[in-house]
Amino acid sequence: MRLMRNTMQLKSQMKLSKTIEEIRADFPILSMKVHGLPLVYLDNGATTQKPEQVIRLMDELYRTANANVHRGVHFLSDIVSEKYESARETVRAFINAQKKEEIIFTAGATASINAVAFSFGEKYVREGDEIIVSEMEHHANIVPWQMLCGRKKANLKVIPFTDEGVLDLEAYRGLITDRTRIVAVTHASNVLGTVNPVKEIVAHAHRHGIPVLVDGAQSIQHGVVDVSDIDCDFFVFSGHKVYGPNGIGVLYGKEKLLNDLPPYQGGGDMVANVSFRKTTWNELPFKFEAGTTNFTGAIALAAALDYLTALGREAVAEREQSLLERATAGLSSLRGLRIYGTAPRKVSVVSFLPGDIHQYDAGMILDKLGIAVRTGTHCAQPVMERFGISGTIRASIAFYNTEEEIDALVKGVRKVTEMFD
Ligand code: PMP
Repeated sequence: MRLMRNTMQLKSQMKLSKTIEEIRADFPILSMKVHGLPLVYLDNGATTQKPEQVIRLMDELYRTANANVHRGVHFLSDIVSEKYESARETVRAFINAQKKEEIIFTAGATASINAVAFSFGEKYVREGDEIIVSEMEHHANIVPWQMLCGRKKANLKVIPFTDEGVLDLEAYRGLITDRTRIVAVTHASNVLGTVNPVKEIVAHAHRHGIPVLVDGAQSIQHGVVDVSDIDCDFFVFSGHKVYGPNGIGVLYGKEKLLNDLPPYQGGGDMVANVSFRKTTWNELPFKFEAGTTNFTGAIALAAALDYLTALGREAVAEREQSLLERATAGLSSLRGLRIYGTAPRKVSVVSFLPGDIHQYDAGMILDKLGIAVRTGTHCAQPVMERFGISGTIRASIAFYNTEEEIDALVKGVRKVTEMFD
């Protein structure tokens, strides 16, 4: 995995293909005012803003290229089908999968994880079997597995993390038994920012013949993700967190595994032949794409990925790391402030609490200053439980954020603490 490669090395090499002014001009919403003040959007972990190139394309598709994919021989349907399959190829190249057939379009990361939990669970999980997740998972990578365990009377086991927010790999190795059927772990934590050593986690599971699902919802947008290098069996992400539209996401799965799994939804397009005697499944990837997919979303997602590629993905990572360092240093200088998640390798996410001030109070004051941050449990209640807190404030940074915006956040949090002093 090249995500967050040594930043020292990057510094001398990587340059964004546009200036920050040009980049910000691509994202219309960034010039908006809220409460009469310039918007400082630091909630990118929840969803990212969309560049003009994506917005315009969606508009254009509905105006000039709207017809159902794979359903007709007419001109428009042909155009859309071609664009849709070309979007699949863009995703394949973006994550370096071996084959286009290994890319399934879904509604998002949550839908992708549920699909695997259902299909894989149907086929391979029995009473008394075990599934491993980590303590830092988003609910999307906990609950589908709990539901599966409930259906099959299987057991969920949990890899703990340290006070810094680093996964305890020794504990992980100790959790694996001959009943372990799958490991599901996040690439990067949406609360702590930790980038997990997924390649090592996968290699260890594979030594025991166990497949691994990697949740890439918080890694795909922050650098170069290479599923062939990680060697994971499944990888999932959402379009809306990587500058694409919402309602579209990706499930990558190794061809052999996907071929072995039963479909999780029945309907149009996923079948080869339907009769009341016997129905047979279509080939990959269509076997897992029942019904009319979000084809407009898939095509626009590809445009978002192209945007990042043209900008320079390693340069994006480098810029975000530098903004993260600035935010971490600025916030750390505030008296009584605690940062949750201090792992050596992080994506640009900072979770913190300023003393005893409740996160919602702080969040509301920051909002009045035009600063958008997320407050609460971030759909990761076990992380809150681990620290014995009810929530945090989370600033999640994108390449289009500026040094001035980071300073505005620090100044805003200082103002909050002064108000409560
Ligand atoms: N996993 C992680 C790590 C996330 O941060 C999120 C979204 N916050 C998800 C999964 C779920 O993504 P979505 O809601 O787009 O399906």
